[in-house]
Amino acid sequence: MAETSEHEVIIIGAGVVGLATALRLAASGREIAILDPHEPGSGASYGNAGTIANYAVMPVGTPSVLKNLPRLLFDRDSPLSIRRTAIPALMPWLLRFAWQSLPGNAARNAAVIAALLADSLSAWRDLATEIGAEDLLRQNGCLYLYDDPASLACAADDMAVRKRFGIAQETLSPEDVHRLEPALPPFEGGGVLFPDAVNLADPAAMMRRLTEVVRAAGVEIIRTEATAIARETGGVNVSCADGRRRRARSVIVAAGAYSRRFAAQAGDPVPLDTERGYHVEYDMETPPLSRPVCPTSRGFYLVPMAGRLRVAGTVELGGLAAPLSPRRIALLERGAKAVFPGLGKPDRQWLGFRPSMPDSIPVIGASKQGNDVIYAFGHGHLGLTLAPVTANLVERILAGQNPSGPQAGISPCRFH
Ligand SMILES: Cc1cc2nc3c(=O)[nH]c(=O)nc-3n(C[C@H](O)[C@H](O)[C@H](O)COP(=O)(O)OP(=O)(O)OC[C@H]3O[C@@H](n4cnc5c(N)ncnc54)[C@H](O)[C@@H]3O)c2cc1C
Repeated sequence: MAETSEHEVIIIGAGVVGLATALRLAASGREIAILDPHEPGSGASYGNAGTIANYAVMPVGTPSVLKNLPRLLFDRDSPLSIRRTAIPALMPWLLRFAWQSLPGNAARNAAVIAALLADSLSAWRDLATEIGAEDLLRQNGCLYLYDDPASLACAADDMAVRKRFGIAQETLSPEDVHRLEPALPPFEGGGVLFPDAVNLADPAAMMRRLTEVVRAAGVEIIRTEATAIARETGGVNVSCADGRRRRARSVIVAAGAYSRRFAAQAGDPVPLDTERGYHVEYDMETPPLSRPVCPTSRGFYLVPMAGRLRVAGTVELGGLAAPLSPRRIALLERGAKAVFPGLGKPDRQWLGFRPSMPDSIPVIGASKQGNDVIYAFGHGHLGLTLAPVTANLVERILAGQNPSGPQAGISPCRFH
């Protein structure tokens, strides 16, 4: 008979969401164990673009994406592509995505995302102060770039939505852009600056700092894979790959793109899939930019990070099992060279898995059968941004307070 250890709370997954949640719950005096077979913070939370994107209120699925979906998906060099072999398996997710992209649904989803993002900057500042990582937060805004005036005009609707949600944004002429970022080539459409946005100088360093403080707060981080959860009287059993059984009064599922099976085991089927994303990095002492910059037609960010320039983004629909696509890496390289022709070969490349819902809204909330199982996954493009907000929400849900108002839209019950 396998040995069983008892915990108050078990968190499955030590990404930025699991770690931030562990810290919040430990600070309120709870006994926490986190399970993860890998180095904490080494999943999607390691390789992202590092932007705390308080301005990113638009869901991925919008009427204009829907209109262009066939072209986008089947052009293998577009910023949003699909692996053809994955189409049958992805069809249910794609159909839901198309439905969520209709005008009324997209507007409702934007309102939920905006409600979540409203506290994201202050929550990150609080977290950075708490873990002594203020030096890793950079406050310099974030810049979108447009190839020509027509592309800027196409973005007008998105900007109007942002304005309605109170997001600060400044439209810049090509000359203004040049003054802000003199190393950039001309972008004839100019740009839009989101002046309040913050970014991380080094996501991996931030994850290390967070992990150290989580450990110092008494959280046990156990290197093993959770394989199944099952409710029983007075708690939830967690079976693990190390052969041990662990039991907790509450289990929080924060396994990023790998969370779906646990939700199904607890009786809450959710349409979680993944949007695969890539980065390439160029080592250099002084990157040629002073803030994250997004040439919008290319679907990636160029981000100055400690000792390197990271080029991160694009979406590839294709599941969790397929290997890195050299074609997608080449696309990033070509795009980076179009902006900075002097770049050589990248020093490293990376593939990561965004945990993505068809409505671009994370799943944060108690299982239908009770708050002994709580979900905190599905953050898609905004998991880094929303991790501390999620941690605060989970603390309240564990105490029996469910989100209300637009934030109620994050509930797992929306799929029942
Ligand atoms: C290219 C790219 C750029 C991005 N840019 C940004 C950005 O600028 N801003 C932003 O806010 N977001 C960005 N994101 C999204 C963001 O990175 C993710 O939403 C976020 O990291 C998700 O965090 P997480 O903790 O849910 O998942 P992860 O960081 O993936 O962590 C999940 C953890 O669960 C563990 N796990 C999995 N299965 C099990 C199991 N069975 N048992 C135990 N543990 C398990 C994994 O090992 C992993 O450590 C980007 C993503 C990509 C790919």
